[in-house]
Amino acid sequence: MNPSIASGHGHWRLPGIANLHSHAFQRAMAGMAERMTHPSDSFWTWRETMYRMAARFGPDTLHAVAAQLYAEMLEVGYTTVCEFHYLHHAPDGRPYDDPAAMSQALIAAARETGIRLTLLPVLYMTGGFDGRPLNTRQRRFGHSVDGYLQMFETLRREQNETLRVGCALHSLRAVPPDAMDLVLAALPQDARIHIHVAEQIGEVQDCLAIRGERPVRWLLDHADVDARWTLVHATHLDVDEIVAIADSGATVAICPTTEANLGDGLFPLRAHLEGDGAGSGGRWGIGSDSHSSVSPVEELRWLEYGQRLVTRHRNIAATAASPSVGETLLRGVQASAVQATGFAAEALSGDIVTLDEHASQLIGATADDIADRWLFAGNRSAVDTVAVDGREVVRSGRHFDREPIAARFASAMRGLLAG
Ligand code: ZN
Repeated sequence: MNPSIASGHGHWRLPGIANLHSHAFQRAMAGMAERMTHPSDSFWTWRETMYRMAARFGPDTLHAVAAQLYAEMLEVGYTTVCEFHYLHHAPDGRPYDDPAAMSQALIAAARETGIRLTLLPVLYMTGGFDGRPLNTRQRRFGHSVDGYLQMFETLRREQNETLRVGCALHSLRAVPPDAMDLVLAALPQDARIHIHVAEQIGEVQDCLAIRGERPVRWLLDHADVDARWTLVHATHLDVDEIVAIADSGATVAICPTTEANLGDGLFPLRAHLEGDGAGSGGRWGIGSDSHSSVSPVEELRWLEYGQRLVTRHRNIAATAASPSVGETLLRGVQASAVQATGFAAEALSGDIVTLDEHASQLIGATADDIADRWLFAGNRSAVDTVAVDGREVVRSGRHFDREPIAARFASAMRGLLAG
């Protein structure tokens, strides 16, 4: 039985789910990079489509797209989103009059929809491990260390009950070692730190060639990686790195539908859960990342299914001590929420999702199989109500402001697609 899912009043009640990795603007291109552009399409050719879309955004369009995305997240049970935000400046690379205008658009969208936001302004400085400058399309992502810290400190002053501001390092290829040291030294002790790492084989090869170590190994050897850190993807790991991540206390943000969509590779879930085999398994959570799918059900289902497909076994996340796959998965995402988002456990306790006891896939469910029924049966959402910080924002599976948010999104999309 999962103590965090309880029955009562015609509902199953569970804690809201944290979405540990989001690039909100990419919601606008979901489903639009599924045509062949090159005989060996990969993450790197997808990135070209992403850059073209990114170049069309301003604060108003970002606000409209993020509000749609956040309302969709709430409707399926995500109550916190970690926004890994690198679209900082105008398309020509010049800062807006308010250098944090794009961050403010995300904060406004979160406030309007009621989702809890961990905003992670991204430090992005170079176009590769060799330190090459950002290209024309990457210029709007870039900062000096001082410029970055100034924006970070300005945003930190806006923190409140439903807003936390942490730090994101885009990746090892985008942040030179000396800049990483300076930024990490300047951060407040409680700031959460997220970084993309080891998502691509090409990134592992470049890191080995230029820094002499695999990316995760290099990071662990050159930064004080601990429970404040979330490593995004961490797909390509050797055995020593898997154990070292678990020992560090860091969380891994796994993004199964995006990693599948981009052809990244498969996270070694079973080995991560076992850690060093002495009971200290690794922490992990999920992210919808590029938003080709916005559903914790689908992320968790594909996290498990990917493992089944390669191992030709079933029930990979489960153990003898925790035999329900669904319960084990939900316990995993709940266990990492505080340390990955920066919100206190007490605050997150006000974030509640209820499932409709009468949803077809939940008829006759018991406390022992409710998590499995929710995660592994059908495609109709069973989410009924969602409350964040004690305030209900979804009822009967619909966000309270669904219509006006959708209308503004449609208008923003028409503009983006015409651009
Ligand atoms: Zn990402």
